[in-house]
Order: sequence, then structure tokens, then C-alpha cells
Amino acid sequence: MYLKKSQIIVIKIGSSLLIDENMIIRKKWLAEFSKDIRDLLKQNKKVILVSSGAIALGCKKLGLNMKKLKLDKSQAIASIGQIELMNLFKKVFSSTKINFSQILLTLEDTEQRRRAINAKRTINNLFQMNFVPIVNENDSIATSEIKYGDNDRLASRVAQISSADSLVLLSDVDGLHDKNPKVFKNAKLIKEIKNIDSKIEKFATRTVSNYGKGGMKTKIDAAKLCQLSGCSMAIANGLHMRPIKKIMQKNNCTWFLPKVSKLDARKKWIISSISPKGQLIIDKGAITALKKGKSLLAAGIIDVKGEFNKGDHVKILNKNLREYARGLSSFTSSEILKIKGKHSDKIESLLGYITKSEVVHKDDMVEV
Ligand code: GLU
Repeated sequence: MYLKKSQIIVIKIGSSLLIDENMIIRKKWLAEFSKDIRDLLKQNKKVILVSSGAIALGCKKLGLNMKKLKLDKSQAIASIGQIELMNLFKKVFSSTKINFSQILLTLEDTEQRRRAINAKRTINNLFQMNFVPIVNENDSIATSEIKYGDNDRLASRVAQISSADSLVLLSDVDGLHDKNPKVFKNAKLIKEIKNIDSKIEKFATRTVSNYGKGGMKTKIDAAKLCQLSGCSMAIANGLHMRPIKKIMQKNNCTWFLPKVSKLDARKKWIISSISPKGQLIIDKGAITALKKGKSLLAAGIIDVKGEFNKGDHVKILNKNLREYARGLSSFTSSEILKIKGKHSDKIESLLGYITKSEVVHKDDMVEV
């Protein structure tokens, strides 16, 4: 069983596990859940919680209707509600004697390598001090262009950064079904998924989840990222009391198995970028060269899309716009527009200065 074997576990809980549709806090559930965490810690496992609820609890405090909130207002509400959220954990976790801390992340914190490494270091130090980090998106600061927007993808990135063995997304459904379980009684729960193919993507649109910003689509995105970073991921029903104990005993959930991954930590970080800034479309010859482990040169680039700086994440696509690889660009998008299709020895005269010849170095690139 994946959880039993896992040393580092990330658990994501959505707002509606903490607060019901009548805006009543589910204290009993949280108290039981804290026993789950206590048991994991007793087994010497390291736990990170990714918890939503800042906006919901902010709305509760101010008596506002969550569904009618505008973005800028929701950012202020999140800053009010985040304290409420931490107060709630403080009350409940003190009775189970769990030490916890708060980490608020924006998308940029995980997309920039230096900041991602720093977040990892902080998490490791907290582990050593026996504290459970509780992570949420820094909703008050994040802007709509640079936002996770949902805690499913945030949780998968946190799992990748912290080299977690498992991520559990606690949802309001048992997992992924072959039909919508709310409509069809004979809908079957899919227990294990190795490959997320078009059939699985179709099942995801049929399994309707009631809650959270994410729904099934973002859970599948999170699963893809986990598969590439060598982490098992479960979608499980969090509405039960002691949901983690239940997974351990009954395993009544959907597990996405990691792809065996020989990638080092840096390459895992490259491949699991949430928001590549641009795209490089390359020709057949370049694909052949990349397959042989070569770097991407300007000569093989047909087109460039998006605006990006040196060091930004880009997708590398073939002529049919199928993603072939991801990497970090050594040139800005405007530089690539000038040098695309040209031999490397022309770069200096085209740009007017001496620079590298590889547009994406092989060490900065990962095949998808
Ligand atoms: N970060 C948001 C909050 O704390 C929740 C995002 C989500 O539901 O996935 O309210």
C-alpha cells in the first residue's frame, strides 16, 4: 500500500471539508482528521498539509456570500480568513499535540528555481523540528495571471518540491469512476492508473465533484505532475471521519502510479513547471538531434510563441504542435525571433553581441 510505504506525505484538504454548505465549521471532522495526522507522525512519517479555506472562513467571519465575490475583494477576504483558518488548526491540533507552521506560496515561488529550493529547505527544517507545515496559496498577493487558482495543482507542486512519496487529494468523491457515480449506480471506481490516456481524461469529465475550485480536471493535471516527479497520488473521499485511516485500511480510492523516473531533482522541477511562459516549435531535424541527446540550436527552430526572458520555462513542440520536451531557454523570446532558423555562427552578427549557441541546453531540457 502506497501510504504505508511513504515517508513524506502531502495531504490536500478542500474548503468544503472544513466548512459545510451552511457555513458551519466541521469541527468534529477536523478533530478526527487531526488524529489521522498524529498517527502518521507516530509512524515517523513527515506530513505537509495543503489547506484551502481562507476565503470561505473570511466570508463566514464577515457574513458574505462566497459565490458573489470579485477577485480583488476575495484577496482581502483571504487575508482575513487565513488567520481564522490557522486559529481553527491551532484549536484542534493543540488537543492532539501537533506542532504546525504556516507557509503561503505564490506561483512564482515554485516556478523560480532558487525560490523553490529555498521553500524545500524551509520544509526540511520544519520536518527536523517536528512541525507540520500547512501550506496555502498566498491569495492576497497572487494576481490572476500568476496564480495557481486551485490547491490541487499547488499541492502537486509542493509534493514535487518536497520530494514527497505520496500526495492525497481529499475530495468529496471516492475517486475516478468510469461513469458519473451520482447518476449511474453501476459506476465503477478505478483503483489504479498507470497512464493518463484519453480514456482516463474522458472519465474525469464524467466524475463530477461538487466542491473546490479545481474539480476533476485540476486533479488530473496534479496527477500528471506527480507521475513525472515520481510521487504516487490518490484522489480519495475526505468526507469520511478519519479519511487517512480509511485509505490505509480499505484503499477505497484512485491511485495514480508514478512513472519510474530517473530524473534528478532539477530536471523533475523543470518538467513539472505549472506555467511555461512560451513555446518553441522545432523541425524534424531538431527532433532527431534532441532524441540523440543534443541541445536545441537556433537552426532547428521554426517559430516562437509567447514572451519570455532568459531562464524561463518553455515548451518545445514539433511541427504538429505536439509537446516533445520542456526546458529553460537561454535566450529571450525576442532574441529567438531574430535567430530562428539560422546557423549558430550567425547569432553574433544577428544580435550584435557574443552569446551562447544553444537556445535550450541539453542539461536544461527534459523529454515529456
Ligand atoms: N486558496 C483558496 C482558499 O484558501 C482555495 C483554493 C481552492 O479551493 O483550491 O480559500
